[in-house]
Amino acid sequence: MSNELPSKPRMLWNYLKAQGRLARHLLLSDEEVIIPEEEQEERLNICYDCDYYMVDDDGVDTCSDCGCPLSEKAERITEHCPFEYWPGDREWKEYEQEQGEQSEEVE
Ligand code: SF4
Repeated sequence: MSNELPSKPRMLWNYLKAQGRLARHLLLSDEEVIIPEEEQEERLNICYDCDYYMVDDDGVDTCSDCGCPLSEKAERITEHCPFEYWPGDREWKEYEQEQGEQSEEVE
């Protein structure tokens, strides 16, 4: 548990990975990137009760494990909780692995 942000290099790496997941999804899937509002709220409510939830110096709700702003993280289908606390995280990881395998086939 931590109430401090990860190092800047780690946050940059996490950001780049998130952008990569988003790009891959946009290339390979017809599914909407933004999940329904009720599901976003469900995710955020879990975060608000989580030990890794913090408000950063700019007043932004943030996950202190990955350093991601939670409003953006919670709205994207390509994001998941690092500890699989959100509903459907396990299924998403399977989906992500499947997409990763498919992306290797893209020329
Ligand atoms: S994404 Fe997961 S670890 Fe991060 S604050 Fe939300 S529930 Fe906690």
